[in-house]
Amino acid sequence: YSQLPRPERQRILTVANQKGGVGKTTTTVNLAAALSVHGLRVLVIDLDPQGNASTALGVDHRAGVPSSYEVLIGELALGEAVQSCPLNDNLFCVPATIDLAGAEIELVSLEQRESRLKAALVADSIRELELDYIIIDCPPSLGLLTLNAMVGATEVVIPIQCEYYALEGVGQLLRNIELVSAHLNTDLHISAILLTMYDARTKLAEQVATEVKQHFGEVVLRTSIPRSVKVSEAPGYGMTVIEYDPGSRGAMSYLDAGRELATRGVQKPTRMNGDAK
Ligand code: ADP
Ligand code: MG
Repeated sequence: YSQLPRPERQRILTVANQKGGVGKTTTTVNLAAALSVHGLRVLVIDLDPQGNASTALGVDHRAGVPSSYEVLIGELALGEAVQSCPLNDNLFCVPATIDLAGAEIELVSLEQRESRLKAALVADSIRELELDYIIIDCPPSLGLLTLNAMVGATEVVIPIQCEYYALEGVGQLLRNIELVSAHLNTDLHISAILLTMYDARTKLAEQVATEVKQHFGEVVLRTSIPRSVKVSEAPGYGMTVIEYDPGSRGAMSYLDAGRELATRGVQKPTRMNGDAK
């Protein structure tokens, strides 16, 4: 793999969409893997109690393992919960354990409940990792965990599944992002929309892709991710598709998407407060 340019400043991305099953976790781990194999240093923070990103990255996330939960409630510094991933020396993960399931409620009574992750990030316990990218995987809701991700990040990546009701809920997501960027984190912007599970054989996928591109313009990555069995099989082996089957279409498309994200300038969506359904 060729080298990709290191960003001038560390980039912190959150992969968000409150719909479940649209490819958030798959996108998080495979983009992270794609950037890491090109020589960039990447940390994934798993903020979904399901811990699927931790599983796919092959890191231990059994109950009791230092995790994003302890970081959010302030028991551990971020650096104390970092694990190395088996893929290569550039890839790290702060796992999520089942403890995180109660965090949405526990956080409510804590001070600065929406900026706990931000506080952990600025505390700088991970400086020595010399990270180029931090990518945060969100749960399928717009609750406090996702809010913490949006306050801690500067960029949002939105995966959109090329299926019926693809844009359902996207309007609400955009309004939330606007609210966060107006009140809590003025740096926050949508840096990419990624079309996932694209099935070139169906008219529907093409229609969804066209609609999303018309609506959001240049912020949509040119690379879309095909529906591929290899992509869905990989997590079962504790791997990203980039390790599991590097030559597969799924792996190649995530490598392309990673390259696009790393090399293109900042894109602004044509419409933020979209009248998306
Ligand atoms: P989310 O994190 O948004 O809930 P996931 O990334 O877990 O979504 O994806 C949902 C399901 O779809 C998973 O079983 C995953 O393996 C599968 N999947 C995701 N992307 C693809 C793809 N490109 N091709 C085939 N299956 C996919
Ligand atoms: Mg997920």
